[in-house]
Amino acid sequence: MSHGADVRGAAGAVVRTETDVIVLGTGAAGLVAALAAVDAGAEVSLFEKSDAVGGTTAISGGTCWIPNHHVGGGIAADSRDQALAYLDSLSHGYIRPDLAAALVDRGPETVAWIEQTTRLAFSVLEGFPDYHPEHPGALRQGGRSLDPGLFPYPALGEWAHRVVRPAKDPHLTLPETSLGGGDGRIPRDTLERRRADDVRGCGAALVGGLLDALLRRGVEPQLSHRARRLLTRDGTVVGVEFETPSGPVSVEAGRGVIIATGGFEWNEELTTAYLRGPMSSPASYPPNTGDGLLMAQAVGASVGMMGEAWWVPTIQVPGDELFDRERAQIVLRERTLPRSIIVNRAGRRFTNEAANYNALGGAFHQFDPASFDYANLPCWLVFDEEYWRRHGFAGYRGAEPPDWVTSAPDIEHLAGALDIEPSQLIETVTRWNALVAAGRDTDFGRGESAYDGWNGDADHRGTPYATLGPLTTGPFHAVELHSGCLGTKGGPRTDVDARVIDNDGAAIQGLYAAGNAMACVTGMVYGGAGGTLGPAITFGYLAGRHAAGRAGTAGRTNAAPAMRAAT
Ligand SMILES: Cc1cc2nc3c(=O)[nH]c(=O)nc-3n(C[C@H](O)[C@H](O)[C@H](O)COP(=O)(O)OP(=O)(O)OC[C@H]3O[C@@H](n4cnc5c(N)ncnc54)[C@H](O)[C@@H]3O)c2cc1C
Repeated sequence: MSHGADVRGAAGAVVRTETDVIVLGTGAAGLVAALAAVDAGAEVSLFEKSDAVGGTTAISGGTCWIPNHHVGGGIAADSRDQALAYLDSLSHGYIRPDLAAALVDRGPETVAWIEQTTRLAFSVLEGFPDYHPEHPGALRQGGRSLDPGLFPYPALGEWAHRVVRPAKDPHLTLPETSLGGGDGRIPRDTLERRRADDVRGCGAALVGGLLDALLRRGVEPQLSHRARRLLTRDGTVVGVEFETPSGPVSVEAGRGVIIATGGFEWNEELTTAYLRGPMSSPASYPPNTGDGLLMAQAVGASVGMMGEAWWVPTIQVPGDELFDRERAQIVLRERTLPRSIIVNRAGRRFTNEAANYNALGGAFHQFDPASFDYANLPCWLVFDEEYWRRHGFAGYRGAEPPDWVTSAPDIEHLAGALDIEPSQLIETVTRWNALVAAGRDTDFGRGESAYDGWNGDADHRGTPYATLGPLTTGPFHAVELHSGCLGTKGGPRTDVDARVIDNDGAAIQGLYAAGNAMACVTGMVYGGAGGTLGPAITFGYLAGRHAAGRAGTAGRTNAAPAMRAAT
């Protein structure tokens, strides 16, 4: 059986080929969907819009949040009921119980199947608390976040050079970095060996392991194929029309089409139309422009979670580029470390700076009716010289901070440089220092959650001083934070088999969605580290298996005349 039919045609020509299952997108959701479908016996064609494999997944931490899994013998403290209670406690009516149950019930199976089907072996990210550890059913000591380990890229042959590369060294695993609980240092010879052998960790490992399994089963992603339209016959999705460098191409799918094209965060029209608040700084893969959403809408998909994203504060450093544009660097550790606060243009703190990044998005979207403006945008992370000397900032170190950091000898002049009323910023810093001295942030509760200290000062982990520290030593420094995201959450709504549903709740035959392209299964919440990839791989798996099991129409060559391109 040949997988991934050759669909290249002469310039301008439309070439029709056939397969069982078409998968659109090569992030975690698409790769898992393709692997699940081929593993279930289907002929699979996998298409990618860009000229590289992996999407945002390849530049991510690769961590997958899967409750009640069996990795390493499982987590004694976890159970189905606990995981469901946790999600329910964070739902605000947005999490559908049937989808939450599908995630919790099928996630462990997905991980076990990935371990059987690929060369990946997951391990628990020890100690990483769920992101809302004080909620019912949460695991304060962690256990649900899984790391995919390392993957040797030479196993991919020439495909090793066609995987999206992250901005930073891809040769560490997340647990080895400060974000994953490590100290960011591994023995020099270990690192050099990994570099020489091109052994990669984090999202690069996840993508590498999945791609390797697909290549070994004869499925080669077809790059530079941008899906543009779904082809339908009598309401059933039966194929896809692509835009390629050599012209339009149509491919028929006898059993199903799986949309795994990521979110719409790079499409300004869509983000303006749908997102609940400002989002100026996506940190994801730029080809994610919502093509899957638009295609699904055109065939009658009902959509959900359109206002939401995986929010994250970011900074943009002049000259630091990724994908030919200024990189949005996510800010986790920097705002958690002691001796730092975040202030708005009124010079006031407005949130627990150490809260999880997704929840912090809500603070950025706070709207002030009196001024008819967003109260907390712009905002700045302010830190003192002692912070700079101990930790540097965002990977930068030296005698003085770089010139994109605003510095001043005292708080008054820093306020002036930021156009903030000096007396207010002085009052804020004075109050903050008094709260730190008393050992408790009674204003916003920073340091009270088991999560807050995780990315803070490791020497004080487990105490509020992992994140509480005074701003006393000048000069003082400030960097503007932006409202960013890791991807949007809105998209076609699905059932528990990842089948896209219409406005009546009926499945659109032949159409599936997974990952950030689907209406998010976990509502507004980011359950814990890996909270986006856990659902993405689970619903990719469900989509692939279900599509492969559909009664096929492949092999019928008379389909074309009756096919209708949905525009
Ligand atoms: C720095 C960083 C770290 C992160 N770390 C983590 C983490 O550790 N754990 C976690 O859970 N989440 C993490 N995330 C978020 C996570 O990476 C994403 O939510 C996840 O990768 C989304 O997977 P996906 O498969 O839905 O989309 P993607 O991985 O973005 O893949 C979508 C693919 O579809 C392709 N595509 C788009 N349109 C079309 C089209 N029309 N036709 C064909 N192909 C198309 C795109 O080019 C892309 O390759 C992180 C994000 C960032 C930026």
